[in-house]
Amino acid sequence: MKKLSNEYIEEVVKACRPFASKGRVVDHIPDLDQSHLSNLGVTIVTLDGETYSAGEDEDHFSLQSISKVIILLMALEDFGKEIVFQKVGMEPTDDLFNSISHLEEYEGRRPYNPLINSGAIATASLIRGSTVDDRFERVLELLRKITENKKIKMNEEVYNAECNNSARNKALTYFMESTGVLSSQETENALELYNRMNSIEINSLSLAKLGCFLSNHGRLIGGKKQLIKPDNIRTVKAIMLTSGMYNESGAYAVNVGFPLKSGVSGSIVGAVPGRMGIGIIGPAINKKGNSCAGGEALRILSSDLELSLLHDR
Ligand code: GLN
Repeated sequence: MKKLSNEYIEEVVKACRPFASKGRVVDHIPDLDQSHLSNLGVTIVTLDGETYSAGEDEDHFSLQSISKVIILLMALEDFGKEIVFQKVGMEPTDDLFNSISHLEEYEGRRPYNPLINSGAIATASLIRGSTVDDRFERVLELLRKITENKKIKMNEEVYNAECNNSARNKALTYFMESTGVLSSQETENALELYNRMNSIEINSLSLAKLGCFLSNHGRLIGGKKQLIKPDNIRTVKAIMLTSGMYNESGAYAVNVGFPLKSGVSGSIVGAVPGRMGIGIIGPAINKKGNSCAGGEALRILSSDLELSLLHDR
């Protein structure tokens, strides 16, 4: 088994950077353009508090779909498993992340799971607060605690772009209103909260800390306080393992083997229970919405460091 060091992460970044040429940078996010194509930043924070990092790990980017993890965590805390999974399923899907095609059919016409767009928008309606501002403030507060980064905030430009590019998400949202998954009072607030959460600015270190928090069962490293109930953390990690990489989640379970969540900014968070959190930014994504170079880095890390949960020990 390889030993973790900054030099080792540097080697992984070097080996994986060329895979970026297989993808492209998403075009609706203003803080990203094709000049970022071959960027790759990888940061690991271990549960004993060590940080290892290399590549473009200083880059800032938007949380995008990784916000779905926070949405699910908060909805579980606020309403509990039973109510959350009345609104959304817990099954993987072979559809693309923003697909509308099976919303008509799946049991109770619920979205398949909380980590696709429809499922996350539905789940966002379960975050408590009297206004969207209150609810979003609670989100920021939790994320700031988890990442120990008081500066975390929304990027206004990205938010405007999300709102101007939201025809598909509006369609999903109103479709769910028509089938009773969302009530007419919830519809617009759920989408608004979702758009704001997608636009939160973050970096690979903060993502690695989020991964670490999940790996550490809902506590900060060295902290005694339980910020999220361990049972809810377990639920979120299980759904990340089965659905966190959209319709590539099966391949990632086989080749990487621990809970992950990707975003179209090319970001990925990984949680290796009991061992470490991983934060990756590699903006070139494939057709399924996952970072090309980032995915390759995860495969190498998992194999070199024996990170798969299914590894023979
Ligand atoms: N903002 C994007 C959307 O809502 C996020 C999707 C993603 O990261 N896969 O479609």
